Amino acid sequence: MNDIILVKLGELVLKGLNRRRFEQKLQSNIRRRLEKIGEFKVYCLQSTIYVEGKDDSADMDAAMEILQKIFGIVSIVRAAACEKDKDAIVALAKEYLREDMLNAKSFKVESKRSDKAFPMTSIQLSQYVGGELAEAFPDTAVDVHNPELTVHIEVRDLAAYVHAAPVPGAGGMPVGSNGVALTLLSGGIDSPVSTYMIAKRGVRLIPVHFFSFPYTSQQALDKVVELAQKLTDYCGRMTIEVVPFTHIQEEMRDKVPEEYFTLVMRRFMMRIATRIAEANGASAIVTGENLGQVASQTMEAMASTQAVTDLPVLQPLIGMDKEEIITIARKIDTFDTSILPYEDCCTVFTPRHPRTHPKLSEVEAAEAALDIEGLVEEALAGIERIRVDHD
Ligand code: ATP
Ligand code: MG
Repeated sequence: MNDIILVKLGELVLKGLNRRRFEQKLQSNIRRRLEKIGEFKVYCLQSTIYVEGKDDSADMDAAMEILQKIFGIVSIVRAAACEKDKDAIVALAKEYLREDMLNAKSFKVESKRSDKAFPMTSIQLSQYVGGELAEAFPDTAVDVHNPELTVHIEVRDLAAYVHAAPVPGAGGMPVGSNGVALTLLSGGIDSPVSTYMIAKRGVRLIPVHFFSFPYTSQQALDKVVELAQKLTDYCGRMTIEVVPFTHIQEEMRDKVPEEYFTLVMRRFMMRIATRIAEANGASAIVTGENLGQVASQTMEAMASTQAVTDLPVLQPLIGMDKEEIITIARKIDTFDTSILPYEDCCTVFTPRHPRTHPKLSEVEAAEAALDIEGLVEEALAGIERIRVDHD
């Protein structure tokens, strides 16, 4: 049987050149993701992407799973193809949807015809196929208003297709169709979710992690790698930039008034991220900040953090409740890893009484004793890169 997957594109508002780029990016993302599970033919016709196995080695079930996590897709359906002939369509529907027809109490047929040369209208075709199916499956009643099963027929350019209900895709835009950004990835619950949300808008992401060995353990870094790896299902393969942060934190401990620790630390993160962004052609910095959640996430604190960068700081979680964030973390399967109890650098030198509504001038004065440029250069020189892929 001619088994095929039909992928319907998202963001239908896109037009013209944008749409072409979007389709091309999505096809290349799909090809890359399916590479490991067999040989597939992927092509686009009339705003639908077709995924066909080239031979029996192509795992169509696995392809369905993978496609559900690729951004830029609104729906996915597995279909069977046949020649564009009404009786061939009936024969295929009887065979391909046999189980579904036997299990459903009621059904209807819905046809779409993009090949206007086909000799029947959509309504005529639905009626014809519906009649034949009703005869072949006498225990399944026709119900055009509220059917349990809808049999879909699409008469398109190359063939006719028969399928049952589509499953929803991940939505959003194809990763890489909308530029590159850095994402600050800690081991917490929030930043994997913020990474996922910006990837959904079509942005390719470079994770950056600040690592304070030995104040934070190797396990804390392993946890970040595991989180990044889980995110590759949605974000594609990535290279984590691991920035040594120990010396900066030690200098801070010795030379900065304690109540400003967190603010000064976050300003270093932003300065270093900005430099990494420049080197990698990235045009924004993504964080998992959430208004009011902790002392460093007041508006004044964020102003002092963002004052050291010219790049837009994207904070997709800014107005969400923790419960909403956790729901997404569970959906993308990062939650259980995020709650493993390893320290993050933010928790190493936490002030007992952090400044929550700082003036920028106070924060600048608090860090004045540090060799800021020297510490930034030193951290950049010590960066290690870890590639993460789907396996
Ligand atoms: P998360 O759950 O993502 O750790 P959080 O609620 O603990 O967030 P903070 O610790 O204030 O909040 O961190 C705010 C944001 O700063 C994080 O969401 C993340 O984007 C970034 N960040 C914090 N620590 C690190 C780190 N060690 N490496 C990289 N980015 C970090
Ligand atoms: Mg954190």
